Amino acid sequence: MIDLDKFSNEPEFQTALREMFSSLDESVLNNPRYASILDKIVEPDRVITFDVEWVDDKGQKQVNKGYRVQFNNVNGVYKGGLRFHPTVTLSILKFLAFEQIFKNYLTTLPMGGGKGGSDFDPKGKSDAEVIRFCDAFMKQLYPYIGVDQDVPAGDIGVGGREIRALYTSYIKYSGKSDCSLTGKPLDLGGSLCRTEATGYGVTYFALEALKTYKNTDLRGKQVIVSGSGNVALYCLKKVTEIGGKVIAMNDSSNAIYVPNGIDFETLRALKEDRRGRIKEYKDLVKDEVTVMPSKDIWGIKCDVAFPCATQFELDENDAKKLFANGCIGVFEGANMPCTLEAANFFIKNKVIYSPGKASNAGGVAVSGLEIEQNKKGEKWSFEKVDERLKGIMSTIFKNCYNTAKDLKDEYNLVKGANNYAFIGIAEKMLKR
Ligand code: NDP
Repeated sequence: MIDLDKFSNEPEFQTALREMFSSLDESVLNNPRYASILDKIVEPDRVITFDVEWVDDKGQKQVNKGYRVQFNNVNGVYKGGLRFHPTVTLSILKFLAFEQIFKNYLTTLPMGGGKGGSDFDPKGKSDAEVIRFCDAFMKQLYPYIGVDQDVPAGDIGVGGREIRALYTSYIKYSGKSDCSLTGKPLDLGGSLCRTEATGYGVTYFALEALKTYKNTDLRGKQVIVSGSGNVALYCLKKVTEIGGKVIAMNDSSNAIYVPNGIDFETLRALKEDRRGRIKEYKDLVKDEVTVMPSKDIWGIKCDVAFPCATQFELDENDAKKLFANGCIGVFEGANMPCTLEAANFFIKNKVIYSPGKASNAGGVAVSGLEIEQNKKGEKWSFEKVDERLKGIMSTIFKNCYNTAKDLKDEYNLVKGANNYAFIGIAEKMLKR
């Protein structure tokens, strides 16, 4: 058995380990074949840390911390996003990289687990400052990445602008053009449907789950999507396209409640083109819009919720409110947005609940397809990538659901995802 107390100075990482090990079936946890790998599976292969020195618009030198966690490559090259946010710590990146090992295995594509980032905050910085920061970050990171080694992508705070800058600097410093980042803009070898992939993927996962558990879909459903970044926006778009109504979204400052439904293009332009705040949506539409504190979003009555903002944004009290208001499904677009207590509450009360490592795997799956296209020198149509994404999300759901059913805990997709992926990774580690 692993002593999880030794990770008490890394609370987010410890929570991820607790989530995994508390959900493993006795037959897996006590399997003598896996005893030798338990200690190994919780230790990253390599952690790279560095200072990022860059110059702001006033000519002042600034220094941030940079990291890359290469956790486990038994299933393929290290793969996982870069996060730029002032809250970034090694504990958060280890939690995300650990999750990524199992998420990537679930996609059925050959990718291992990694994650990286910086405590740099792109918010409020000029484009020139962001580009100078990205250049300085990549100057430190480039020796450790490569298409057969480690392929980063975006995450919170790292969107199209940052990936363009990072990839341009990668080419400059490495002298290579080997597509060692994904989520690239199309003109630099990116894949169609990568921008949409995580938000569309979590919606496809929800459709599979709603059909299987409740014989229903999203048409006519009142939906909450938290966040208003990449994942949330494209979840809004897909849910709306298939007939659901997204009535509330938020950012870290405010939530908006729009009984007539939030308009995708208006919000996309506000967030992506103008980098505005969500409360400004009120000034852009004629509909009734109520602006409230961000956290109040979970008190709004809905049928289905997609937490798509950040870790631990939905606690047990929020879970109780959603349940009392009749919510039948909670599908994680973000990484671990529900606390363990909230997740357990949903499972106990038979609210369909999907852990992020299963339902938000669409983004990394299409990153895997981007690598495949780059290696083959091909460019696939949007429809082809979208079809592959649908197929992958359906396979992920079925593998998690069937495992949960085999373990006689049908509503426990956490058990389903964790046992299925843990056994897969453990077997590969034993073979190696
Ligand atoms: P973005 O940076 O594009 O958006 C993050 C959004 O979450 C912003 O709207 C941000 O608001 C909001 N937010 C942050 N903290 C809070 C909070 N405490 N309460 C409410 N809203 C908050 O990130 P992504 O959309 O890319 O990522 C969102 C989540 O999805 C993360 O957990 C990420 O790890 C996960 N994920 C992302 C994938 C991807 O392909 N992008 C793939 C798989 C998972 P503000 O502007 O105020 O900070």
